[in-house]
Amino acid sequence: MAFTNWDMPQHWFRAIGVVVVLLLGMYALSPSRAEAPHLQPLAVELVPLADAQGRLSELGSDAKSLLLGVSGDTRQAHAELRFVLPPRDSESPHWVIWMRRAPVETVELRVNDTWKSGSRSFLAPQRFEGPMPVGYLFRLPSTWEGEIRLQLDATAMRLAALRPEVISEEQANRYVQEATIFASLSYASLLILSLMTLALFFASRDSGFLSFFVFCLCGVLLLAVFNGHVYLFEPFGIFRFLGGSGLHAVSLLFEVVSLRILLRYTDIEQTRPTLVKAINNGCVILLLAIGLLLAWREHLDAFAGIFMPLFWCLGCVVAFYVLGEAWRRRVPLAGAVFFSVLAIALSILAWELASRGMIAATLWTTYGYQAGIVLCASMIAVGLISRISKYREQRDREQRARADSERRMYREAVRSELMTMLQTSLRGVAEDEVQPIVFRHLLEHLRRIVPTTTAVAVARGYHGRDTLVVQPAAYLDDVEANVGQRLQTLRKQLAGNIELQRPVTKTGELTPVAIEALIALPVRAPAWGLIVLERSGATVFHPEELTIVRELARLALLQADEAIAALHLRHTAEIDALTGALNRRSLDQSLARTFQHAHRKGLPLSVLFVDIDRFKAINDKLGHASGDHCLREIAKTIAAQLSEDDIFGRYGGEEFLVILPGRQTEMARAIAEQIRLAVEHTDVRYQEQPLRLTVSIGVATQLSHEGQPQPAVERADKALYAAKRAGRNRVNVAPAVFASRPATA
Ligand code: GH3
Ligand code: MG
Ligand code: MG
Repeated sequence: MAFTNWDMPQHWFRAIGVVVVLLLGMYALSPSRAEAPHLQPLAVELVPLADAQGRLSELGSDAKSLLLGVSGDTRQAHAELRFVLPPRDSESPHWVIWMRRAPVETVELRVNDTWKSGSRSFLAPQRFEGPMPVGYLFRLPSTWEGEIRLQLDATAMRLAALRPEVISEEQANRYVQEATIFASLSYASLLILSLMTLALFFASRDSGFLSFFVFCLCGVLLLAVFNGHVYLFEPFGIFRFLGGSGLHAVSLLFEVVSLRILLRYTDIEQTRPTLVKAINNGCVILLLAIGLLLAWREHLDAFAGIFMPLFWCLGCVVAFYVLGEAWRRRVPLAGAVFFSVLAIALSILAWELASRGMIAATLWTTYGYQAGIVLCASMIAVGLISRISKYREQRDREQRARADSERRMYREAVRSELMTMLQTSLRGVAEDEVQPIVFRHLLEHLRRIVPTTTAVAVARGYHGRDTLVVQPAAYLDDVEANVGQRLQTLRKQLAGNIELQRPVTKTGELTPVAIEALIALPVRAPAWGLIVLERSGATVFHPEELTIVRELARLALLQADEAIAALHLRHTAEIDALTGALNRRSLDQSLARTFQHAHRKGLPLSVLFVDIDRFKAINDKLGHASGDHCLREIAKTIAAQLSEDDIFGRYGGEEFLVILPGRQTEMARAIAEQIRLAVEHTDVRYQEQPLRLTVSIGVATQLSHEGQPQPAVERADKALYAAKRAGRNRVNVAPAVFASRPATA
């Protein structure tokens, strides 16, 4: 494919979509988009004041913010705000003092004892601060103008910087709106992601989605705690007593959950098991740290300012390493997640710097990391979905391949079973049984691979025979009537080389009740044959199924051909070509077999030696062709007089031998007489010319001590000669005396 290089993975499109939506949202919110011209904030001078112990409070590096919680032993901070309010008139705005909401225990403004603003607290937002407080807002009395000095008193809860601004109420509203939109968008995004992944978890049962759901909830918790919104809800209000430690604990918990979801998402366990173990241990240590922090918060809070950034730095390093590794392994969107974690790291850094008064606290330093978390969560969500759909595809492919090979193996097994079945069941059967057996087994085996309601095999003129087999056999009558009627139509369809499937409808109805498929049997013309398969319902036959039917039919017919060819070969080896009686070779075998059997079982056995009278004369007079004709006629006549157990063959020239198992001399003589008479009365004609034929027959019976045929055959031969001498056209029974003194005969 020429476009392979342009063939960006689908998940990148999704990721780009997410980024575009987020960027648009941020652009819409950016402070520079404030359209209405607004009043500039008033210049404020911040002068640090000393506390009760005489220690001077600290200011941020630009001297615009008051620092809290910098040193462990003092929690109070005081500063004086100096600014000049412009002279009042009816147009002049309301001035307010605004500070972005930083985690402080209390913050308050006062003018000596003449004016007090009332205290605000991060941990206990008040009703008048609105449903989602984002800053500390103090309205100044409308009567004030000129130079103003206010004292700012604050109690620390953890490291924080308060940056008071004197702005118009209108401007403050804008700040509030911006921050509110920012915060609510972050909550909403994470909650939507969490609900989506929860739904995906229930749909796919992939625990990765459940982990991600927990991650999103933790993200919401982190945001709610760090924005101070969690204390608005009464059940969570009880966490107020945890103070700054609560914030630290939640931030560590979020770190643990983030590392876990990263491991889950990057699936690094397979390539770096030791690293994963180390990270897991690290997570356990973090959990212990959370426990310690909560238990000993009075002692450890002071150090949190040092170890919290340390834990976060470590966490970021691990995250970058794991993501870099995943990026190399081409985990979907690992690169995008890498950059969004980088964005989080940078914005946390900005947040920390702003908390230490090193940079100004703005909308982005306060909420940047929250946007980063949303971005990162979106990327991981898209990546997880891509990865899981990839897994799913791979698993489906594997399952299909496995099912395919199982099906192939099953077919192969059925095929070879059919072959062995045919080979064993065709052994020793007569020619007219071959086709019914072959077709029956073929259909039985076919139906195991290709489900059908009924299967019919029809052959016409195949090895000179017509066959119709139905499976299951119970349907024979129905099918015979139905298919039998349509046979010529079906044949024509096959002649047009159309192997069709067609819906079967009941008379008078439109909806099909079954599908019928027609498959030609590969038999040589003028013979022809077909298989008709019917499947109830509307599932059409798959081309693959029809291929299998053809293949099995071909193999089965090969077996039938082979069996019939073997039968023909055996026939020519055993049968005398001229008369159709057994030839000398098989006659000798039969003699040996029957004599041994009779001797062993003590059963009677007789033989007849039949010789045509004056046959030479016929040959001489009318030619050999007429002699051959007579031989055939006489063989037919003799065979007609015999029962199924009797064996009849051409012994040589114009001599026949009949073996009569189970017959004593008298019965044998009777049969011989019957033969003689039959021949005498047979109307044999050659070229319209009637011929008078007679036979002479010598009869001999096996003696009880004889295990071999020769003595009896010789006695019969001698009896025959005696009959000839006595005038021909007669039966002569050999006396036992021939055998008792063979040497003198
Ligand atoms: P009889 O047995 O009554 O003594 O007289 P016969 O003429 O039958 O005498 P014999 O048994 O000696 O003659 C056998 C003749 O049968 C010789 C041969 O020409 C003839 N014959 C043998 N085999 C065949 C054959 O396959 N076809 C034809 N047409 N004639 C055969
Ligand atoms: Mg003869
Ligand atoms: Mg003879």
